Amino acid sequence: MAIEDRKIIEKKMAELLKTGAAMLAQKCPVDGCYLPLFKLKTGEVICPEHGRVYIVKSDEEAKEVVSRTLVLKVLEDLEGRVIDVLSTLPQHLIDEGYRDVIGWLEVLERIMRIKKELFSEGGKSKAS
Ligand SMILES: [Zn+2]
Repeated sequence: MAIEDRKIIEKKMAELLKTGAAMLAQKCPVDGCYLPLFKLKTGEVICPEHGRVYIVKSDEEAKEVVSRTLVLKVLEDLEGRVIDVLSTLPQHLIDEGYRDVIGWLEVLERIMRIKKELFSEGGKSKAS
């Protein structure tokens, strides 16, 4: 790793700690990375270089994470498209209470809710 990159990552790690993230004993599972993982207050586990990672204990759990990640990706694509539609709607339609606006907002609300559920399930820690 180049010195410049190392500096950026060190800075990121310091920032993570500052925001209250906890450094874990586990290392990043990405090949050749070996950076320590950080657990955010939200329960999300991230590598300072690779972003969000998942720690799994079995193949079954790994499969579940893969499908959850795929669902999340589809939802994020859809969310982006809904936001595009809403942000390009002519103002007068919004002012006139255009029915579809509410429909789109409902879609957006559902996407956000499902995303949150997917996420909270992933970040749930086992009670000890
Ligand atoms: Zn990594």
